[in-house]
Amino acid sequence: MTNLTFGTLAMRIANEADAYEYLESLRWPEKPVCPHCGVMNDHYFLKPTNGVSRTTTRGSESQRRVWKCKDCRKQFSVLTGTIFHGSKVPLQTWLFVFFEMCTNKNGIAAREIARKYGVAPKTAWFMTQRIREAMANDSSGKLSGNIVMDETYIGGKPENWHANDPRRAKKGNSTTKMAAVALISEETGEIRTKVVTNVTGSVIQNMVRENVVTGTTTLHSDSAPLYRTVSKEMAGHHVVNHHAGQYITELSNGTNKAENFFSQLKRSIDGTHHCVSKEHLSRYLSEFAFRHGSHYLSDTERMVKLMGQVPGVRLSYRPLTAE
Ligand SMILES: [Zn+2]
Repeated sequence: MTNLTFGTLAMRIANEADAYEYLESLRWPEKPVCPHCGVMNDHYFLKPTNGVSRTTTRGSESQRRVWKCKDCRKQFSVLTGTIFHGSKVPLQTWLFVFFEMCTNKNGIAAREIARKYGVAPKTAWFMTQRIREAMANDSSGKLSGNIVMDETYIGGKPENWHANDPRRAKKGNSTTKMAAVALISEETGEIRTKVVTNVTGSVIQNMVRENVVTGTTTLHSDSAPLYRTVSKEMAGHHVVNHHAGQYITELSNGTNKAENFFSQLKRSIDGTHHCVSKEHLSRYLSEFAFRHGSHYLSDTERMVKLMGQVPGVRLSYRPLTAE
Protein backbone atom coordinates (compact mmCIF):
# COMPACT_ATOMS: atom_id res chain seq x y z
CA MET A 1 0.00 0.00 0.00
CA THR A 2 1.39 3.37 -0.92
CA ASN A 3 1.39 5.83 1.92
CA LEU A 4 -1.08 8.65 1.52
CA THR A 5 0.28 12.15 1.24
CA PHE A 6 -1.80 15.23 0.78
CA GLY A 7 -0.86 15.11 -2.90
CA THR A 8 -1.91 11.51 -3.49
CA LEU A 9 -5.14 12.04 -1.57
CA ALA A 10 -5.91 15.13 -3.65
CA MET A 11 -5.38 13.11 -6.84
CA ARG A 12 -7.50 10.25 -5.61
CA ILE A 13 -10.41 12.48 -4.63
CA ALA A 14 -10.23 15.02 -7.42
CA ASN A 15 -13.95 15.79 -7.22
CA GLU A 16 -17.00 15.21 -5.06
CA ALA A 17 -17.98 11.93 -6.74
CA ASP A 18 -14.47 10.58 -6.06
CA ALA A 19 -14.79 11.58 -2.41
CA TYR A 20 -18.04 9.62 -2.17
CA GLU A 21 -16.45 6.60 -3.78
CA TYR A 22 -13.48 6.84 -1.44
CA LEU A 23 -15.68 6.85 1.65
CA GLU A 24 -17.79 4.05 0.15
CA SER A 25 -14.66 1.94 -0.25
CA LEU A 26 -13.89 2.45 3.44
CA ARG A 27 -17.37 2.04 4.79
CA TRP A 28 -18.64 -0.69 2.48
CA PRO A 29 -15.65 -2.83 1.48
CA GLU A 30 -17.87 -5.38 -0.27
CA LYS A 31 -21.32 -4.05 -1.03
CA PRO A 32 -23.35 -1.12 0.24
CA VAL A 33 -25.37 -1.76 3.37
CA CYS A 34 -28.70 0.02 3.56
CA PRO A 35 -28.50 2.33 6.61
CA HIS A 36 -32.29 2.30 6.88
CA CYS A 37 -32.98 -1.43 7.11
CA GLY A 38 -29.50 -2.98 7.36
CA VAL A 39 -29.92 -5.14 4.26
CA MET A 40 -26.74 -5.73 2.31
CA ASN A 41 -26.36 -6.78 -1.26
CA ASP A 42 -29.50 -5.80 -3.02
CA HIS A 43 -29.16 -2.17 -3.88
CA TYR A 44 -28.87 -0.37 -7.14
CA PHE A 45 -26.93 2.72 -7.93
CA LEU A 46 -29.04 5.61 -9.16
CA LYS A 47 -27.04 6.86 -12.06
CA PRO A 48 -27.49 10.59 -12.65
CA THR A 49 -29.37 11.13 -15.88
CA ASN A 50 -26.62 13.32 -17.31
CA GLY A 51 -24.00 10.84 -16.03
CA VAL A 52 -22.30 13.36 -13.76
CA SER A 53 -24.53 15.21 -11.36
CA ARG A 54 -28.07 15.48 -10.10
CA THR A 55 -30.16 18.45 -9.13
CA THR A 56 -30.94 18.74 -5.45
CA THR A 57 -34.27 19.80 -3.99
CA ARG A 58 -32.78 23.27 -3.56
CA GLY A 59 -31.95 23.38 -7.23
CA SER A 60 -28.17 23.16 -7.04
CA GLU A 61 -26.04 20.58 -8.84
CA SER A 62 -24.64 17.76 -6.73
CA GLN A 63 -22.27 14.88 -7.46
CA ARG A 64 -23.69 12.95 -4.54
CA ARG A 65 -23.72 9.21 -5.19
CA VAL A 66 -27.16 7.85 -4.38
CA TRP A 67 -28.26 4.26 -3.92
CA LYS A 68 -31.70 2.74 -3.66
CA CYS A 69 -32.55 -0.20 -1.45
CA LYS A 70 -34.59 -2.91 -3.19
CA ASP A 71 -35.82 -4.07 0.16
CA CYS A 72 -37.16 -0.96 1.89
CA ARG A 73 -37.25 1.15 -1.30
CA LYS A 74 -35.51 4.05 0.42
CA GLN A 75 -32.65 6.03 -1.02
CA PHE A 76 -29.37 6.49 0.77
CA SER A 77 -25.79 7.57 0.31
CA VAL A 78 -22.60 6.78 2.17
CA LEU A 79 -23.22 9.88 4.28
CA THR A 80 -26.58 8.73 5.64
CA GLY A 81 -26.42 8.40 9.41
CA THR A 82 -22.96 9.96 9.73
CA ILE A 83 -21.78 13.37 10.91
CA PHE A 84 -21.32 14.37 7.27
CA HIS A 85 -25.01 13.99 6.53
CA GLY A 86 -26.68 17.33 5.90
CA SER A 87 -23.41 19.24 6.01
CA LYS A 88 -23.05 21.92 3.37
CA VAL A 89 -19.32 21.39 3.35
CA PRO A 90 -18.27 19.23 0.40
CA LEU A 91 -17.19 15.73 1.41
CA GLN A 92 -13.92 16.32 -0.41
CA THR A 93 -13.15 19.23 1.96
CA TRP A 94 -14.11 17.14 4.99
CA LEU A 95 -11.72 14.41 3.93
CA PHE A 96 -8.87 16.86 3.32
CA VAL A 97 -9.36 18.42 6.75
CA PHE A 98 -9.53 14.99 8.40
CA PHE A 99 -6.24 14.13 6.75
CA GLU A 100 -4.59 17.35 7.86
CA MET A 101 -5.78 16.97 11.42
CA CYS A 102 -4.49 13.47 11.74
CA THR A 103 -1.13 14.07 10.10
CA ASN A 104 -0.01 17.56 11.19
CA LYS A 105 1.84 17.32 14.46
CA ASN A 106 0.06 20.36 15.89
CA GLY A 107 -3.25 19.82 14.15
CA ILE A 108 -4.68 22.66 12.11
CA ALA A 109 -6.31 25.79 13.48
CA ALA A 110 -9.90 26.56 12.50
CA ARG A 111 -8.91 29.94 11.03
CA GLU A 112 -6.39 28.14 8.81
CA ILE A 113 -9.09 25.78 7.55
CA ALA A 114 -11.38 28.74 6.85
CA ARG A 115 -8.68 30.49 4.86
CA LYS A 116 -7.44 27.45 2.98
CA TYR A 117 -10.77 25.86 2.06
CA GLY A 118 -12.94 28.94 1.77
CA VAL A 119 -15.44 27.97 4.46
CA ALA A 120 -16.90 30.35 7.05
CA PRO A 121 -14.86 30.58 10.29
CA LYS A 122 -17.81 29.21 12.26
CA THR A 123 -18.08 26.24 9.91
CA ALA A 124 -14.36 25.59 10.20
CA TRP A 125 -14.62 25.62 13.98
CA PHE A 126 -17.56 23.20 13.83
CA MET A 127 -15.55 20.87 11.60
CA THR A 128 -12.59 20.76 13.98
CA GLN A 129 -14.91 20.02 16.90
CA ARG A 130 -16.54 17.12 15.05
CA ILE A 131 -13.17 15.73 14.08
CA ARG A 132 -11.96 15.95 17.69
CA GLU A 133 -15.09 14.05 18.73
CA ALA A 134 -14.06 11.29 16.36
CA MET A 135 -10.55 11.38 17.80
CA ALA A 136 -11.94 10.97 21.31
CA ASN A 137 -14.15 8.10 20.18
CA ASP A 138 -11.50 5.45 20.68
CA SER A 139 -12.93 2.16 21.78
CA SER A 140 -9.78 0.10 21.85
CA GLY A 141 -10.52 -1.01 25.41
CA LYS A 142 -8.57 -1.10 28.63
CA LEU A 143 -4.81 -0.84 28.79
CA SER A 144 -2.48 -3.20 30.62
CA GLY A 145 1.23 -3.88 30.96
CA ASN A 146 3.29 -0.90 32.02
CA ILE A 147 1.45 2.38 32.47
CA VAL A 148 3.02 5.79 32.97
CA MET A 149 0.89 8.33 34.76
CA ASP A 150 1.45 12.01 35.40
CA GLU A 151 -0.47 15.23 35.88
CA THR A 152 0.15 18.82 34.91
CA TYR A 153 -1.49 22.20 35.27
CA ILE A 154 -2.48 24.10 32.14
CA GLY A 155 -3.84 27.57 31.56
CA GLY A 156 -1.42 29.66 33.53
CA LYS A 157 -1.75 31.44 36.80
CA PRO A 158 -3.45 34.84 36.44
CA GLU A 159 -1.50 36.15 39.42
CA ASN A 160 1.62 35.79 37.27
CA TRP A 161 0.21 37.80 34.40
CA HIS A 162 1.62 41.23 33.81
CA ALA A 163 -0.57 44.08 35.08
CA ASN A 164 -1.23 45.13 31.46
CA ASP A 165 -1.89 41.65 30.17
CA PRO A 166 -5.09 41.84 28.04
CA ARG A 167 -6.22 38.55 29.51
CA ARG A 168 -6.80 40.33 32.84
CA ALA A 169 -9.55 42.49 31.39
CA LYS A 170 -11.23 39.44 29.96
CA LYS A 171 -10.94 37.06 32.84
CA GLY A 172 -10.59 39.25 35.88
CA ASN A 173 -8.47 37.59 38.49
CA SER A 174 -10.28 34.29 38.58
CA THR A 175 -8.06 31.36 38.04
CA THR A 176 -8.23 29.57 34.70
CA LYS A 177 -5.82 26.89 35.71
CA MET A 178 -6.92 23.35 34.99
CA ALA A 179 -5.29 20.03 35.57
CA ALA A 180 -4.73 17.41 32.94
CA VAL A 181 -3.97 13.82 33.82
CA ALA A 182 -2.42 11.46 31.29
CA LEU A 183 -2.12 7.74 31.40
CA ILE A 184 0.18 6.24 28.77
CA SER A 185 0.97 2.68 27.80
CA GLU A 186 4.72 2.16 27.87
CA GLU A 187 4.38 -0.60 25.26
CA THR A 188 1.99 0.87 22.69
CA GLY A 189 2.04 4.60 23.41
CA GLU A 190 -1.77 4.67 23.67
CA ILE A 191 -2.98 7.51 25.84
CA ARG A 192 -6.02 8.26 27.97
CA THR A 193 -6.49 11.78 29.26
CA LYS A 194 -8.76 13.63 31.63
CA VAL A 195 -9.24 17.29 32.49
CA VAL A 196 -10.16 18.14 36.08
CA THR A 197 -10.09 21.24 38.23
CA ASN A 198 -8.17 19.48 40.94
CA VAL A 199 -6.15 16.27 40.97
CA THR A 200 -6.87 14.09 43.97
CA GLY A 201 -6.16 10.49 44.87
CA SER A 202 -9.70 9.50 44.01
CA VAL A 203 -9.54 11.23 40.60
CA ILE A 204 -6.44 9.14 39.89
CA GLN A 205 -8.06 5.99 41.22
CA ASN A 206 -11.22 6.41 39.13
CA MET A 207 -9.27 7.15 36.00
CA VAL A 208 -7.10 4.07 36.48
CA ARG A 209 -10.10 1.85 37.14
CA GLU A 210 -11.87 3.13 34.03
CA ASN A 211 -8.94 2.69 31.69
CA VAL A 212 -6.69 -0.04 32.99
CA VAL A 213 -6.82 -3.74 33.86
CA THR A 214 -5.34 -3.11 37.30
CA GLY A 215 -4.41 -6.68 38.23
CA THR A 216 -2.02 -7.09 35.28
CA THR A 217 -0.66 -3.55 35.17
CA THR A 218 2.41 -1.96 36.68
CA LEU A 219 2.14 1.74 37.39
CA HIS A 220 5.05 4.14 36.88
CA SER A 221 4.74 7.55 38.51
CA ASP A 222 6.60 10.21 40.43
CA SER A 223 6.59 10.19 44.21
CA ALA A 224 3.44 12.35 44.61
CA PRO A 225 1.17 10.88 47.34
CA LEU A 226 -1.71 10.99 44.81
CA TYR A 227 -0.73 7.63 43.40
CA ARG A 228 -0.48 5.77 46.71
CA THR A 229 -4.11 4.69 47.06
CA VAL A 230 -4.48 3.25 43.59
CA SER A 231 -1.06 1.60 43.68
CA LYS A 232 -2.43 -0.97 46.13
CA GLU A 233 -4.70 -2.33 43.38
CA MET A 234 -1.92 -2.63 40.82
CA ALA A 235 0.37 -5.53 40.01
CA GLY A 236 3.27 -3.22 40.79
CA HIS A 237 4.23 0.41 41.31
CA HIS A 238 7.56 1.96 40.36
CA VAL A 239 8.29 5.41 41.67
CA VAL A 240 10.90 7.89 40.52
CA ASN A 241 11.73 10.58 43.03
CA HIS A 242 12.07 13.84 41.10
CA HIS A 243 12.90 15.73 44.29
CA ALA A 244 16.00 13.61 44.64
CA GLY A 245 16.90 14.25 41.01
CA GLN A 246 15.88 10.75 40.01
CA TYR A 247 14.28 10.38 36.56
CA ILE A 248 14.85 6.78 35.64
CA THR A 249 15.66 3.71 37.69
CA GLU A 250 16.75 0.20 36.84
CA LEU A 251 13.12 -0.83 36.85
CA SER A 252 11.47 2.18 35.29
CA ASN A 253 11.81 4.77 32.55
CA GLY A 254 9.97 7.10 34.88
CA THR A 255 7.40 9.56 33.66
CA ASN A 256 9.35 10.84 30.63
CA LYS A 257 6.69 9.71 28.18
CA ALA A 258 4.00 11.72 29.95
CA GLU A 259 6.22 14.77 30.33
CA ASN A 260 7.04 14.77 26.63
CA PHE A 261 3.37 14.52 25.80
CA PHE A 262 2.49 17.45 28.08
CA SER A 263 5.29 19.69 26.88
CA GLN A 264 4.33 19.21 23.23
CA LEU A 265 0.71 19.87 24.11
CA LYS A 266 1.55 23.07 25.99
CA ARG A 267 3.76 24.41 23.22
CA SER A 268 0.96 23.87 20.76
CA ILE A 269 -1.68 25.46 23.00
CA ASP A 270 0.54 28.51 23.51
CA GLY A 271 1.07 28.73 19.77
CA THR A 272 -2.50 28.44 18.58
CA HIS A 273 -4.96 28.97 21.43
CA HIS A 274 -5.49 32.06 23.47
CA CYS A 275 -8.30 30.99 25.72
CA VAL A 276 -8.58 27.49 27.06
CA SER A 277 -11.93 26.48 28.48
CA LYS A 278 -12.37 23.15 30.22
CA GLU A 279 -14.34 21.69 27.30
CA HIS A 280 -11.86 22.98 24.80
CA LEU A 281 -8.89 21.65 26.70
CA SER A 282 -10.43 18.24 27.00
CA ARG A 283 -11.09 18.04 23.24
CA TYR A 284 -7.63 19.32 22.53
CA LEU A 285 -6.14 16.65 24.77
CA SER A 286 -8.12 14.00 22.89
CA GLU A 287 -6.74 15.30 19.62
CA PHE A 288 -3.18 15.15 20.90
CA ALA A 289 -3.68 11.78 22.53
CA PHE A 290 -5.07 10.40 19.27
CA ARG A 291 -2.05 11.48 17.21
CA HIS A 292 0.45 10.61 19.92
CA GLY A 293 -1.08 7.20 20.57
CA SER A 294 -1.13 6.29 16.88
CA HIS A 295 2.39 7.45 16.06
CA TYR A 296 3.35 3.90 15.08
CA LEU A 297 0.80 3.94 12.24
CA SER A 298 1.46 5.30 8.77
CA ASP A 299 -0.47 8.40 7.75
CA THR A 300 -2.76 6.19 5.67
CA GLU A 301 -3.48 3.85 8.55
CA ARG A 302 -4.07 6.75 10.93
CA MET A 303 -6.53 8.30 8.50
CA VAL A 304 -8.33 4.97 8.24
CA LYS A 305 -8.39 4.55 12.00
CA LEU A 306 -9.87 8.01 12.39
CA MET A 307 -12.52 7.49 9.70
CA GLY A 308 -13.52 4.33 11.58
CA GLN A 309 -14.02 6.39 14.75
CA VAL A 310 -16.37 8.88 13.12
CA PRO A 311 -19.72 8.51 14.90
CA GLY A 312 -22.06 6.69 12.57
CA VAL A 313 -19.30 5.22 10.43
CA ARG A 314 -18.31 1.66 11.05
CA LEU A 315 -15.72 0.38 8.72
CA SER A 316 -13.64 -2.62 8.09
CA TYR A 317 -9.89 -2.29 7.99
CA ARG A 318 -9.54 -4.62 5.02
CA PRO A 319 -10.19 -2.22 2.17
CA LEU A 320 -7.80 0.35 3.41
CA THR A 321 -4.85 -1.79 3.17
CA ALA A 322 -5.95 -3.19 -0.17
CA GLU A 323 -4.59 -0.45 -2.34
ZN1 LIG B 1 -33.23 -0.69 3.06
